[in-house]
Amino acid sequence: MHVDFTNHWIFKVEIEDHIQDLHDTLEDNSHGVALASNQIRPDGWRIFVVRDGRDLPTVMFNPSWVVLDDDLIMPVQEGCLSIPELMLYAPRHQTIRVMWQDRSGKTWGKIVSGLDAQIVQHEVEHLNGKLLIDYANKDLALRVRMEAIRNRKTGK
Ligand SMILES: [Zn+2]
Repeated sequence: MHVDFTNHWIFKVEIEDHIQDLHDTLEDNSHGVALASNQIRPDGWRIFVVRDGRDLPTVMFNPSWVVLDDDLIMPVQEGCLSIPELMLYAPRHQTIRVMWQDRSGKTWGKIVSGLDAQIVQHEVEHLNGKLLIDYANKDLALRVRMEAIRNRKTGK
């Protein structure tokens, strides 16, 4: 759900409570660097929180991102608090321009790279209903298909 900054009452009470829950949940999971709203509340808002100390604000409203001209996509290994114990590879743009709103509804933009760019891509995917495991499924499907072709060639 898009955060509507014109509804101040809802924003102050319900969303601030939810943001506190997100920060608390992230604090309880020492491996996590960020958490998306719908990871703890299915009918959540387009919000994610980031652990303090990164080159991103600790809470980002209505985030989105675009690729830059000289973009490079690399397979990066990452984990997810929604699928603990698993480290999977995902294709990630190395440098992106991220846009978001702050608490007052003001829009910001910034160029980020490395882990910060990875965090934004991972968390926006959460907000779009996509999980890291979806990449693994595709990879697994491809491997199974390759195996089938190989077996056909060798007559197995
Ligand atoms: Zn995740």
